[in-house]
Amino acid sequence: MNDLNDLYQETILDHARHPHNRGELANADAEGAGHNPVCGDEVKLQIAFDGDRLAAVRFRGSGCAISQASASMLTDAVTGRSGSEVGDLIERVERVLRGEEPDSPELGDLDALRGVAQFPMRVKCATLAWKTLRQALATANGAPAQRSFPPTAE
Ligand code: ZN
Repeated sequence: MNDLNDLYQETILDHARHPHNRGELANADAEGAGHNPVCGDEVKLQIAFDGDRLAAVRFRGSGCAISQASASMLTDAVTGRSGSEVGDLIERVERVLRGEEPDSPELGDLDALRGVAQFPMRVKCATLAWKTLRQALATANGAPAQRSFPPTAE
């Protein structure tokens, strides 16, 4: 972690030490579990929908600070958003982590993930939660509730 820019490091460590939305949902509509064997990180996500919005998101997991901080930031960033907004956000975060997105202060804490882009070995730690979210939403497609993700355009 010492190689990260101080500003990015502070945001990431704060989320790792005090994760947001960590825990379990009693009635999850979708779930996903991801593993990064390179680092040993694990992330499980649970999602409850309200219509096409992600009304609540919780995560559990273990692993390095970057993996857990990224999951914590993810829950903050996607709660209340529609499936299509979340799809766009996942792609945008992936671009940030490839170093392809210009400075994006409107991304809030997520912008700190650009500090990880310079360290290829750690990028998988940061993308784990986002890949897990993508998987959870894809699984929700075929769920008994017959949800459609991403929703069709209006
Ligand atoms: Zn890791």
